[in-house]
Amino acid sequence: MTKQLKGIAVSDGIAVAKAYLLVEPDLSFEKRSVENVEAEAARLSDALSQSTKDLQAIRDKAVKSLGEEEAQVFDAHLMVLSDPELISAIEGNIKDNKVNAESALKDVTDMFIGMFEAMEDNPYMKERAADIRDVTKRIMSHLLGVKLPDLSMIDEEVIIVAEDLTPSDTAQLDRHFVRAFVTNIGGRTSHSAIMARSLEIPAVVGTKEITEYVVEGDILAVDGSEGDVIVNPTDEQVADFKAKEKAFNELKAEWDKLKHAKTVTADGKHFELAGNIGTPKDLDGVLGHGGEAVGLYRTEFLYMDSPDFPTEDEQFEAYKAVLEGMEGKPVVVRTMDIGGDKELPYLKFPEEMNPFLGYRAIRICLAEDQMFRTQLRALLRASVYGNLRIMFPMIATLAEFREAKALLEEEKAKLVAEGVDVSDDIQVGIMIEIPAAAVIADRFAKEVDFFSIGTNDLIQYTMAADRMNERVSYLYQPYNPAILRLIKNVIDSAHAEGKWAGMCGEMAGDQTAVPLLVGLGLDEFSMSATSILRTRSLMSRLDSKKMAELAAKAITDCDTADEVVALVEEYTK
Ligand code: PEP
Ligand code: MG
Repeated sequence: MTKQLKGIAVSDGIAVAKAYLLVEPDLSFEKRSVENVEAEAARLSDALSQSTKDLQAIRDKAVKSLGEEEAQVFDAHLMVLSDPELISAIEGNIKDNKVNAESALKDVTDMFIGMFEAMEDNPYMKERAADIRDVTKRIMSHLLGVKLPDLSMIDEEVIIVAEDLTPSDTAQLDRHFVRAFVTNIGGRTSHSAIMARSLEIPAVVGTKEITEYVVEGDILAVDGSEGDVIVNPTDEQVADFKAKEKAFNELKAEWDKLKHAKTVTADGKHFELAGNIGTPKDLDGVLGHGGEAVGLYRTEFLYMDSPDFPTEDEQFEAYKAVLEGMEGKPVVVRTMDIGGDKELPYLKFPEEMNPFLGYRAIRICLAEDQMFRTQLRALLRASVYGNLRIMFPMIATLAEFREAKALLEEEKAKLVAEGVDVSDDIQVGIMIEIPAAAVIADRFAKEVDFFSIGTNDLIQYTMAADRMNERVSYLYQPYNPAILRLIKNVIDSAHAEGKWAGMCGEMAGDQTAVPLLVGLGLDEFSMSATSILRTRSLMSRLDSKKMAELAAKAITDCDTADEVVALVEEYTK
């Protein structure tokens, strides 16, 4: 019977193939008391070394298929396997309670998982819990002699269906055979989703119930760009998906040809296409998709992925890795943007009525300047390893910019006095994400080296519509003429002072917005890596003069966002 499901589209692409149902292995066991605790400890030790062997093999495969950085998750798993605290707790449990290894393993790992999961707000600890769960499953399978499904043995075209995929499952997928995967749970930023994008396997997660509707051998049609899944599609639906797949693959092949190309419009105007990153390991994606720069490095993830404030040296290493990785191409590093929806478990403040309008980003940095100075020093020390640009987030007033810049200068002078090398060619700019700054961009332009427009926040503040509130999402309008006028003011103000203006909000990679932004003369577009090539391709088909006409018309003649969209369609037909 045909059944249609909708999930979260996390990795682009379309596929039609046979379902491969990933069944959870039966790892149930009886708790037993044992006399010979030494023998039980030896069983545990065997299971641990077999698991280590498995994981090393999986890690080696992952390095080949995903790259060194993505394979690091398995180093974390191998660390769990050799964690003396964990292992001695399991051995102690066997000896003290005279129980079998299975029972001791489960008791101890449940305790650790529970402890890490209780630290609700800390994604770093949550990941540790997921790592322990994944590793425990493997040790248990060796203790019980149960084989874990071996996804690396798949040798025909399939679409994997599962409750969820662990990182080790995902790393074993061979993209030649695994055409897509669909899961019950997960979100855009879950590990499996991130890996699917690096492997370029279409994926839909969070369908809630796909496993209830699929039996082995069913045919599935999956659209990883829209989040659509059809179980046992009709002939017509298959034909429709096949046609979409063909069109998508042709498009992608066209985009891929542009990987080493310059970003130019049909009439030869150059724009810079950059990638947004959250960690140094995201660089592979930016370079792999032909990014010409990093336009936004969200350094708060360094703080969020860590159990405590990252030290100056830890930060230095991360910034250096990114600068070296980009080999002299520009890297815009945004100083930490905590607050709003991004919390740090180790930096607690009183609850606020409106966190998005509250104590966040540069406001925290200027008030707790020790933390800010540490980040600035790490950045300055790293500056000699590439083309660093420093950007302050959430700037509302010139006073804030001046104060932040003064702190930067102070730290620079101290480092130079200490004999540390610091680049003397570091651009310092601001994000324009608060309407007040957009309105007086002409004044800012005299003092900053560049602007990067953060539309994710600029739109929510301009329209007074929370970017995460579904009920007001109809007001979250990137194409509203009010937003376009602010953007125009920012770009024109920068140009009047000989400075450049970029954009690092999601709007920069939005295919309806790009023609307008080209027309407004935006210099740099920074987006998620997977949007870069399609944007380069779109730009190559645009005439910049015609787009300037479109933008001028949208700004002067349109009353509503819908009118703007219609105009874009007319101009890009
Ligand atoms: C923005 O606000 O547009 C932006 C890029 O910053 P973030 O999404 O991290 O708030
Ligand atoms: Mg923002």
